[in-house]
Amino acid sequence: MKRVRWSLGGVLGSTPARFAVVSLVPVVVLGSFLNSAVRSSIRVRTADVYGSMTEVMFHMAGDLIIRPEDFADGRPLPAERQAAVEALLSRVGADAGTLRLRIVDQQGRVLYANQEADRAQATSPVDGPVRRALHGETATRFVKDYLDPAARTGRQDLIEIYLPITFDGDPKVYGAIIATGINGSQIQTIDHDVHRMQTTLALGLASLWLALLPIASSLSRRLRRKSQENEALALYDTLTGLPNRNLLAERLSAAIEVAGRTSERVGLLLVDLDRFKEVNDTLGHGRGDELLQRVAGRLLETIGRDGTVARLGGDEFAVLLPSIEGPACLASVSDRISAALADAITVEGVDVDIQASIGGATFPDHGELGEVLLQHADIAMYAAKASEHVFVCYSAEIDSHSPRRLALAADLRRALASNGQIVLHYQPVASPVTGEVKSMEALVRWHHPHRGLLQPADFIPMAEQSGLICNLTTKVLDLAVRQAREWMDAGLDLSIAVNLSALDLRSMTLLDDVVATLARHRVPPHRLELEVTETGILAHPETAVQLVAALRAAGVHIALDDFGTGYSSLTYLKKLSPDRLKIDRSFVDAMTHDSTDAEIVRSLIELAHSLAIGVTAEGVETEQHWNLLRDLACDLVQGYYLARPLEAPAAAAWVRERSRSLRTGSVVGSA
Ligand code: C2E
Ligand code: MG
Ligand code: MG
Repeated sequence: MKRVRWSLGGVLGSTPARFAVVSLVPVVVLGSFLNSAVRSSIRVRTADVYGSMTEVMFHMAGDLIIRPEDFADGRPLPAERQAAVEALLSRVGADAGTLRLRIVDQQGRVLYANQEADRAQATSPVDGPVRRALHGETATRFVKDYLDPAARTGRQDLIEIYLPITFDGDPKVYGAIIATGINGSQIQTIDHDVHRMQTTLALGLASLWLALLPIASSLSRRLRRKSQENEALALYDTLTGLPNRNLLAERLSAAIEVAGRTSERVGLLLVDLDRFKEVNDTLGHGRGDELLQRVAGRLLETIGRDGTVARLGGDEFAVLLPSIEGPACLASVSDRISAALADAITVEGVDVDIQASIGGATFPDHGELGEVLLQHADIAMYAAKASEHVFVCYSAEIDSHSPRRLALAADLRRALASNGQIVLHYQPVASPVTGEVKSMEALVRWHHPHRGLLQPADFIPMAEQSGLICNLTTKVLDLAVRQAREWMDAGLDLSIAVNLSALDLRSMTLLDDVVATLARHRVPPHRLELEVTETGILAHPETAVQLVAALRAAGVHIALDDFGTGYSSLTYLKKLSPDRLKIDRSFVDAMTHDSTDAEIVRSLIELAHSLAIGVTAEGVETEQHWNLLRDLACDLVQGYYLARPLEAPAAAAWVRERSRSLRTGSVVGSA
């Protein structure tokens, strides 16, 4: 793209002279072609006219000058006929100085010649146009030759006419008249016409070319302006006017190249605002944008002429310091940045406290290529986000600790800001008695741009460690509740279950998030079931218990997921009083071949029922599981025997098909 812009700009923009030269060539070629075509056409037509005129003239003179018997023996014409020819010639004003005339018979014998030199020759060669005339064809042509073959001085433009000699009522060709004339004045007229035509053509083409030149140069100016605008768009962020990622990458490479020669260091800081999304959601995008502009302003003031401040997208900024003494300098610049952001920013009358996480990397200590430095600063920034510190400088240690995780964290962050990468698959949950589908569990998947479809196990732990899990939960909640609304509108009576992580349970903001999401999509709270795990509750027991109580009070259902895998199940069963238990699939799997496990499942179901808690069994993979759980009075079952997790449209189609089959009695357990 960029290359195309440059080449157009180069040829048309910076060198209009080049355009002039290049365009002149076809104009000149066209001019000479037209010139020669028109010239030869005029000449051919003129020669033809002369040919016809001469033919008419001799025809009218008829047998006054020549008769069939003159061709009997190949001897020259009798004197009276020669005199008749000469009389005819003088009548039309032709003499030996302007016309060379010969009359030949079929053998080329010269019967008459008006020039001395020709009379001396008994025969004339029978070739080319002479032969054609002897076969009855009139031929004319222009030649450059001597009129008088004996004199051989002064070649001239001559018209040659070859006429067959025939007599009325006789198809035979007796001989040919060969007339070679100067026609000086006619030739001059032709030349004059041709010159006039050439001049007109040249003037026409020149004015066409002159008219094209300003058009081309104004076009070139416009193209150049457009290309400059495009360049600005390609290199600068439109919101803040700061250099964007592309320009930063260019400047970073340039700085590294210089530093490589001068043995200096290049510093790179990535500055990411904390909780910007919250600000954006609360205050609206307009204020969010203004906040970003103000942050950009503060960063510019702080860095001044020491380096480049760029915006990489969203709430992510970068600071390039082309010449620093060592990694320690990064920490002090980072302190200055934190100090600059410490004062609340007032946006449309609202004071917003903003904090940032900053990651740093230096050339050559942490990488020799711009790309690597950016990646390492990114990793350091995520390490800062996950830690208590504002600033973390890259070190092999944080990287070797979990390089994939940190790189993946950067990707997840982008995935959360974009649409379509984070998707939900839905697994049906049904009654083992009626087989009817009651709800769908939303299970998150990540379409990673390079790694393909990732399962929760591939990224949930990383999301938890990097602090991105709450944003992920918000996203999943929104997608799931939106889906619940769509299914309600489509007449499908389904609840939706969403999994929460331990970290979601440590602050009360989740409550507002859930309530707002339900309201936004107009979904009644009882349609939503939130699945929490025992480990999740154990991490922050007090807040978790409080939060769960508040969520239940808001009408949302709570399920205790993977029940039986934790340590203090019974304690929390009492404290949380959830709506439902989900018996972990390890028990379900074991119960068909181990009677103790079957007993445990039976006791769990009974216990739950005695506390008015519903029970779902997970991991139902066989008909045997299904039947046993139904016999144990388990309320709901979920597992591959019923269906695997499906994409939303497939899940809806599956549910419809299943209820149709249930109505016709053609299915009991499995799909
Ligand atoms: P989970 O909540 O216990 O979800 C059930 C998991 O078991 C799903 O795996 C499901 O595909 C799988 N499963 C269902 N039926 C069967 C079966 O018959 N046999 C076997 N072997 N497996 C079955 P998935 O989707 O890989 O999810 C794994 C876990 O990741 C979930 O376990 C849940 O704890 C977590 N997870 C999934 N989505 C989210 C999410 O949006 N947020 C959070 N925080 N965690 C999630
Ligand atoms: Mg679950
Ligand atoms: Mg589970």
